[in-house]
Amino acid sequence: MATARVLIDGPSELVFDYAIPAGLNVQAGCRVRIPLRRKSSTGTVLSVEEGPPGDFALRELESLIDPLPLVTPVLLKTGRWIANYYGCSLESVVRSLIPESVRSEENSAKTRRIAVLDTEPSAEVLEKLSKKAPRQHVILTLIASTPDKRLAVSDLGEGSSPSLKALEKQGLLRIEIEDVRRDPEADGVEEVLESQPLTLNPEQAAALEVVVASIHNPQSPILLLGVTGSGKTEVYLQAAQHALDLGKTVLVLVPEISLTPQTVRRFKARFASMQEQVAVLHSHLSQGERFDEWHRIRNGIARIVIGARSAVFAPLPDLGLILVDEEHETSYKQENPPRYQGRDVAVLRAAFEPCAIVLGSATPSLESWHNTQTGKYQLVRLDQRADGQSMPLVRVVDMKLESAKHKGNTTFLSDKLRTALEQRLEKGEQSILFLNRRGFARSLQCPKCGHVCQCPHCAVSLTYHRTDDRLVCHVCGHQAVVPRKCPECKDPAIILQGYGTQKVEEVLAKVLPTAKFARIDADAMRRKNALRDTLNAFKAHKIDILIGTQMIAKGLHFPNVTLVGILNADVGLHVPDFRAGEHTFQLLTQVAGRAGRGDLEGEVIIQTFTPHSPSVQYARKHDFDGFSEQELEFRRMLKFPPYSHFAVLTARSTHERRAEFTTQTLHLRLKENLPESISLGDPVPSPLVRSHGQFRFQITLRAPSARVLTRHVQGVLERTSLPEDVTVVFDMDAQNFS
Ligand code: ADP
Ligand code: ZN
Repeated sequence: MATARVLIDGPSELVFDYAIPAGLNVQAGCRVRIPLRRKSSTGTVLSVEEGPPGDFALRELESLIDPLPLVTPVLLKTGRWIANYYGCSLESVVRSLIPESVRSEENSAKTRRIAVLDTEPSAEVLEKLSKKAPRQHVILTLIASTPDKRLAVSDLGEGSSPSLKALEKQGLLRIEIEDVRRDPEADGVEEVLESQPLTLNPEQAAALEVVVASIHNPQSPILLLGVTGSGKTEVYLQAAQHALDLGKTVLVLVPEISLTPQTVRRFKARFASMQEQVAVLHSHLSQGERFDEWHRIRNGIARIVIGARSAVFAPLPDLGLILVDEEHETSYKQENPPRYQGRDVAVLRAAFEPCAIVLGSATPSLESWHNTQTGKYQLVRLDQRADGQSMPLVRVVDMKLESAKHKGNTTFLSDKLRTALEQRLEKGEQSILFLNRRGFARSLQCPKCGHVCQCPHCAVSLTYHRTDDRLVCHVCGHQAVVPRKCPECKDPAIILQGYGTQKVEEVLAKVLPTAKFARIDADAMRRKNALRDTLNAFKAHKIDILIGTQMIAKGLHFPNVTLVGILNADVGLHVPDFRAGEHTFQLLTQVAGRAGRGDLEGEVIIQTFTPHSPSVQYARKHDFDGFSEQELEFRRMLKFPPYSHFAVLTARSTHERRAEFTTQTLHLRLKENLPESISLGDPVPSPLVRSHGQFRFQITLRAPSARVLTRHVQGVLERTSLPEDVTVVFDMDAQNFS
């Protein structure tokens, strides 16, 4: 006999085992009815164990609600891999595979009854009814008069049900149950005009050819490295069309739906004639909407799915193509358990399906790039802008000189950038100002010379800890005293640096009194549709200058923008993260790519305290190859990804000592029988040492093999019982280790 582990519907997320009655074909992912206390309840099967149950008698499952499991077999296989690789329970993975809103019966589809005529009623029948049962006659003629001979029962009015029953009994009509789709787009969304495929340029055509070949005969993943504006999206669209024409389905992953409105709109426009078959998995779908969309996908009705990270689990049958847009984005990594990397899971799913997969970016992650060098991925490039425009001219302004010019008063607007803004205003052209918020005020920087305190061992910047007034390296644990003056130029003004978008807007309003501004940052965009409205206003040129944070870096395309100013390019360089340089290069390149996307030429002005940093210099030249070559050399020397897997083990507690003690204990145990290939860091306070009232301490680990690393850590965690009130989190391939 087999047993099923069932996740009970409801907020408490209870899990119980049940015996499976003989003859019932229960698989993981199935929805089931089960006894719970004295009642009947519903749940989802997490897993099925063959063989006899444990030593106590289990209650039996009652029945299957739906014979079709909510996840496909490939997804279950993917789920098992995730559990092993990221060292988390299969249960937590299945919970992600089947979101709560989709599991819960309460959200189940609304249905309606439809009266259907399969054959026209004969003249005699109508004649007879009109005399004997006038009501039935009316109903029958009414349905017969509709174009598709169907009418919702609810449209027939009150009291028609006895007549309907009688008609059904005589075989004159039949009643069908139809699902009513709660269409998330039903109200108040802009009309989309269908777009036609463009004639591809030779680079695009060559790229499409590689993708199409892979759709027919799935090969290794394809990395599409295309400069900003090179027409990657057009390649995605035509590749998607190809897969659909073959009767297959398509999955499109984007970093965040709300931040990529233009990409989503372009997919909707191209496939406007098959709107019913497009599902967009927004994070703000209602529970009922999500339930419906998921079932439309599982049943093969929705054939293109667009969504963020978690859409990688969309249960599309016959998957032909996965597109991962902006594959370098860190938002593909989930920051709570299961802490999977959506892009990597997509690659794995594509191999299991098998289907074609394209990872696209102007600035690929070094992990993916490295995979093209070792032959694991195929590389396809688009080096030219699609509309024939040249890449924007990028100028770098040294803010140390600027600061000196203004007699040491810190300013965030250089003369060059101010003049450029004024020129755009005169010509009626638009500008974007970008304020980098990453790593805001966590590192010490000298305002005179731009010096930032670095770890002597790790080439990452040291993080300032206010509580004990120390600088700490978050990779190796190195500690240093806070300098009273700048170690470089001896100026005593070394301080925590930073200012916000609001301040920028205030100051600019004084400098450029005639300009119209708008801000895009998390604060200003809290209102629903605020982002969409602001972008539309910008497009309609009701705004001259758009000021924004990371939210404006992605995929925006405004032909009238001829100037992009980057106010503080180097802030992101000084976060305690070995990927700081990579992220800064990516951000600068992406932001710069917003300029000159129409007929007018674009200009970019980068303000920085560190004009010679490779991230700034290579971004200035739009040189991904140069940047990656230099950066990979550094990673290789220090054994950082992609030359190793990097993981973080964090202990959290409201008791500082307990959290710290736990990390020390874990560190001691990790050291025992430590496989030679693993480099183990010392226990240190997390960069964000206190968060949500909890103290956090961490240990970093690196190893060439992910399996070896996860297994060793899992082994230690299983043998270690944690003190009360301490939570330990293992983050494999950690992206953000604050
Ligand atoms: P990317 O996604 O690589 O940044 P886009 O797909 O946004 O680039 O393309 C940039 C612009 O070029 C868009 O306006 C797009 O419509 C246009 N474009 C793309 N492909 C072509 C083509 N083959 N011919 C003409 N214009 C194109
Ligand atoms: Zn260090």
